[in-house]
Amino acid sequence: MDILEFKEAILKLGLDVSEDKLNKLERYYELLIIWNQKINLTAITEKKQVYLKHFYDSLTLVKAIDLNKVNSLCDLGTGAGFPGVVLKIFFPNLKLTLVDALSKRIKFLEVLVKELNLEDVDLVHMRAEEYGRLYRECFDVVTARALTSFSVLLEFSASLLKINGHLIAMRGLNDSASGLSALKVLNLKINNIVCFELPGGGGQRTLIDVQKISKTSLKYPRRYAEIKKKSL
Ligand code: SAH
Repeated sequence: MDILEFKEAILKLGLDVSEDKLNKLERYYELLIIWNQKINLTAITEKKQVYLKHFYDSLTLVKAIDLNKVNSLCDLGTGAGFPGVVLKIFFPNLKLTLVDALSKRIKFLEVLVKELNLEDVDLVHMRAEEYGRLYRECFDVVTARALTSFSVLLEFSASLLKINGHLIAMRGLNDSASGLSALKVLNLKINNIVCFELPGGGGQRTLIDVQKISKTSLKYPRRYAEIKKKSL
């Protein structure tokens, strides 16, 4: 997807494009490529592919939720900042928290956030399940792209959400059936499922919108060893 195609595609998503936002993405791309030579951030490096599979794909979250109305958003297993940083560029209103278990990726994000002059961004070097044990009922929205199985992601996210808050899980194929028993235990429900194809044969995508109905038991999330032994 070249820049022109990118602009057209995000207009179709109902988003505003400005020179400032496009410049920030350009700088994001440059830094991603430079840092990717030193630390492993992404296998996708060709510019058109980054614009499609990282930048545009991150923004498709708006197909599931109106981020103008959202205050706090937490991106679990954000890696090189997808989708969290891209969303922040387009929705500067967001109070953003980025969580990743790898310190090198958090280092990259520190530099990126500074270079792009993004405000109100918290960077957390922690495992999602540890973070979820400490910070309960803090976020309007939790999201994660390409992180773990659906049922484990439910366990990572439930405690972090405020009551009525939404997890938007960004998945390839729809694997929501694998989380049905976890939903019940964690007091969550599936609100909506959005399926679509990325343009240009980029593959199938599914956004699973999960809503928190009531408080999460203090038992969850469990420690990783227990989660691995038996999923909910
Ligand atoms: N969301 C990004 C990265 C996906 S790769 C994208 O879509 O491009 C998964 C990322 O999650 C990696 O950066 C890895 O370090 C991180 N990760 C894996 N398990 C984690 C856990 N339990 N808690 C926090 N981060 C985790």
